[in-house]
Amino acid sequence: MNEMQLKFLSRSENEVFARNVVAAFALPLSPTLAELSDVKTAVSEAVTNCIVHGYRGGEGWITLSCRTEDTCLHIEISDSGRGIADLEKALQPFYTSLPEEERSGMGFTIMQTFMSDFSVTSEAGRGTTVRMSKTFGARAAEDAR
Ligand code: ATP
Ligand code: MG
Repeated sequence: MNEMQLKFLSRSENEVFARNVVAAFALPLSPTLAELSDVKTAVSEAVTNCIVHGYRGGEGWITLSCRTEDTCLHIEISDSGRGIADLEKALQPFYTSLPEEERSGMGFTIMQTFMSDFSVTSEAGRGTTVRMSKTFGARAAEDAR
């Protein structure tokens, strides 16, 4: 078991920072390049959402915590921004509240697809938390059966 927590500002350069921190933290679990790439993409999507939707380009804190358990990496990413009034709608593929900014509405769907587990909690006006996890070597273990 290992654990880390980090707090950083909602600046666009911190998307790259966050996904590389998570990748570095996950390395001892020996993920494949494909697994690592999935995790990095999911983290990028979650952090981008905090920046563009949670804080709407303004400044605020984003917290990132990671925990490893055997071959599983758990990630939690939170903002204290606007929150999501209709979560069911927000989770639908292709739904975006910012179509004029040419967003595709696929961030949550990507997180769901690339990770083993995914959930969101949010309260309008208070913020949003995304929890997701990925078990490394899951495919290899299945193939070996
Ligand atoms: P894309 O991710 O493809 O660029 P998107 O960000 O609009 O587009 P999703 O990431 O799937 O799509 O998010 C869907 C919607 O959920 C967003 O349009 C936004 O309304 C809402 N949302 C997501 N994350 C947050 C957040 N952290 N704070 C507030 N609203 C959010
Ligand atoms: Mg998004």
